[in-house]
Amino acid sequence: MNKSSTSQAVLHDRSDKETKWEPERLKRVADELKNQHPIEIIRWGVEQIGVSSITLACSFGYEDVALVDMVMKVNPEVDIFYLDTELLFEETYQVRDQLSERYQKDFIRVSSVLTVEEQASEYGPELWKRDPNLCCRLRKVEPLKKNLQGYQGWITGIRREQSITRAHAEVVEWDDSFGLVKLNPLAFWKTDQVWSYIREHGIPYNPLHDQNYPSIGCFPCTRPVKPGEDPRAGRWAGFTKTECGLHNSPVK
Ligand code: SF4
Repeated sequence: MNKSSTSQAVLHDRSDKETKWEPERLKRVADELKNQHPIEIIRWGVEQIGVSSITLACSFGYEDVALVDMVMKVNPEVDIFYLDTELLFEETYQVRDQLSERYQKDFIRVSSVLTVEEQASEYGPELWKRDPNLCCRLRKVEPLKKNLQGYQGWITGIRREQSITRAHAEVVEWDDSFGLVKLNPLAFWKTDQVWSYIREHGIPYNPLHDQNYPSIGCFPCTRPVKPGEDPRAGRWAGFTKTECGLHNSPVK
C-alpha cells in the first residue's frame, strides 16, 4: 500500500469509528436497551465494542460489586480496574480481596503518578482539605483519563436517582470528557433493586454500607450520613463539591 492509500485507509478507519459511535446511534441503542436487565446492557457492550476494548470501573461500592458479578457472568475476560488513591478505607481493600478470590479475578490497580507523600511535598499536606478538586484531579481524574485511553467503552455504576447531576444518565451514551462510549447499566435501577441483586447472589460488599455510609470514597472525604440526608451528603462534607470529576455530565 503506498503512502497515499495508507493515509486514506486511516481516514476511512477514523470516520468509520466516528460513524459507529455517533451520539444519535447511541441514543437509539439506549432507547432500545433501557428496559433490559443490566446484564443485557453489559452483553451489548461486550459484543458490540469488543471484550478487549471495554472495561468496568469499580470503586467496590454496592453498585459496583453488583456490576462485577454481572460482568463476570457475561464474560470473565473483561478488564476491571479500580482507582487506588492510596486513601481508601481498609474495608474497601478487603472487599476487593474477597471479590478477587470469589471470581478468581485480578483487578487492575490504577494510581496517581504521585504518592500521597510526593503530593504533600509538591502541593502541601492534606490537599483534600484545601483544594479537593485538585486532589481529585491528581489522584482520580488524570489516572482515569490515562487508563481509558486504551479502551473504546467503559462501564460505570451511575444511577439516575443518585444525584441531580446523574438524573439524565442513559444506559448507553457518548462520554465527551474521555472520548469513548459509556455504559451505565444500572441507570434506571433503584437502590432496593441493587441490594436485592447483591443479596440474591450472595455478593460480598463493603460493611461500611451497614454503618450509614451509602457512598464510599476516600476516607478523608467520606463521613456517614444522618437519617434523611442525601445519600451523597457524606462525600466532601463542608464543600459544594459533589463529584470527583469522573462523571461530570451537565445538569440538564
Ligand atoms: S476524594 Fe478526597 S482524598 Fe480522594 S482524591 Fe478526592 S479530594 Fe483527594
